[in-house]
Amino acid sequence: MLYTPPYTSEPLRSEVLSFLADQPKRLFIGGQWVEGAAGRVFEKDDPATGIVFARVCEGDAEDVQRAVDIARTIFDDPRHPWRRMTPHDRERLIHRLADLIEADRETLAQLITLENGKPLTASKGEVESSVRMFRYYAGWPTKIEGDVKPVSIPDRLNYTVREPVGVVGAIIPWNFPLSMIAWKLAPALATGNVVILKPAEQTPLSAVRVCELIQQAGFPDGVVQLINGFGETAGAALVAHPGVDKIAFTGSTEVGKVIMRAAAGNLKRLSLELGGKSPHIIFDDADLPKAALTAAYGIFSNAGQSCNAGSRLFVHRKVYDEVLSRVAERATSIKVGPGMVQGSEMGPLISREQFARVQRYIAAGLAQGARLRTGGGRPPDVPADGYFIAPTIFEDVHSEMSIVREEIFGPVLAATPFETLEEVAARANDTPYGLAAGIWTRDIGRAHKLAALLRAGTVWINCYSQFDPASPFGGYKQSGFGREMGHEALELYTNVKSVWVGL
Ligand code: NAP
Ligand code: MG
Repeated sequence: MLYTPPYTSEPLRSEVLSFLADQPKRLFIGGQWVEGAAGRVFEKDDPATGIVFARVCEGDAEDVQRAVDIARTIFDDPRHPWRRMTPHDRERLIHRLADLIEADRETLAQLITLENGKPLTASKGEVESSVRMFRYYAGWPTKIEGDVKPVSIPDRLNYTVREPVGVVGAIIPWNFPLSMIAWKLAPALATGNVVILKPAEQTPLSAVRVCELIQQAGFPDGVVQLINGFGETAGAALVAHPGVDKIAFTGSTEVGKVIMRAAAGNLKRLSLELGGKSPHIIFDDADLPKAALTAAYGIFSNAGQSCNAGSRLFVHRKVYDEVLSRVAERATSIKVGPGMVQGSEMGPLISREQFARVQRYIAAGLAQGARLRTGGGRPPDVPADGYFIAPTIFEDVHSEMSIVREEIFGPVLAATPFETLEEVAARANDTPYGLAAGIWTRDIGRAHKLAALLRAGTVWINCYSQFDPASPFGGYKQSGFGREMGHEALELYTNVKSVWVGL
């Protein structure tokens, strides 16, 4: 089945065409490209048109079993090349993978846009930041050190070493298909783990491409395996499997809780990066044009499908009308359209389900008495069967509304005025989530005071949505636990061993 997107400014690259010509896309188990044991396939549609353009082999519990068996043989064999590989060689291998991803940038970007819907420029940015992530962690293997501890027992030497946790199951979402792979694979491989990857059913293709590059880079067979398939079957089997030592999960808080319970069997290590309902707070002394523009960017980029989306906007009452006008003006000027079309600033939502879900939230907002400032439905001039929703702003919201309490994961902003720092801190914290927050003010005392009061894993002051491989990211409260990126992520993928020597 060969697909020509009906709305596109550039033809699909020949690499993309040959990638798509070879279907169904297979699982990657033990270094082999194989069909699922049950022989099933699932379909993947283009969010911009709703047209099915790819078929993907569906892995389930039996495939997970095979992958875990292979992963265990690798990890449990101290003579396996991966286990014996020097830190220096591990660095070279991860750099080689980064080089291959970089060289494949245009192809990966088209695949990401086709499967996810986001604008091609955003997909390219995602490839670039993923390359940076691999390079950052490629630098670590030769720098991970243990300590000699100053113990007070005579004639005893005590030292620590950091060892890989073992077999890691990485279960990831569809909103940043390649970044999510990089965030998990890069630190896991840098620390010498063996990884089984379960991508979201909505974005199976870039994961297949990356595994082709992993193979090309020369990673030993089985060090990274790929099981495309569904969460309830393949994902659940990975989480329940006693041969898996750790699950690294990004996704909804709801599934995070299911995973936490299911991982209890063998007390797997867990890191959970879950949902958010992040507050974006603008004081009256802020650079208002910049703050308003960034507030719009904070919610509408990636069509609102970001865990850190600034979905609750708090604006000081004195400047509320001015800021809201600016945010609304930006919202209405955003060019919504197919990601493959040059100039599209915001693509469709990921799927028919997500489209319906966001529409239900918009209807609930209206029913609960919120006032629609702009958006609220399909934008004009978009393909009829694509999953497009216009940038949407609600005002007159209160803290009990579902559009204020729940993660919508769509381009929907809930705006409200505030008067004092203490008041806005309390209201910003009035949520089960605690992923991120934004603050705009020129008063540094006030900025830091508020930053300290906010219960969120990341606080951005006079900026928003900034990420760097060196800076840790993760949640407070029901946004999860564990920090990805930075040296902090190394802790997620290593155990500390304390060795005592009698002298
Ligand atoms: P999700 O269900 O949490 O999916 C995330 C990943 O977990 C997917 O790979 C999924 O597989 C898998 N999964 C689902 N159920 C599982 C289970 N019982 N055991 C193991 N793995 C399982 O999220 P979603 O359905 O894609 O989106 C629903 C909502 O989640 C969104 O509207 C949004 O609010 C939130 N979300 C948050 C983030 C984030 O970055 N924090 C990302 C995505 C979604 P499938 O492919 O079968 O779903
Ligand atoms: Mg799901």
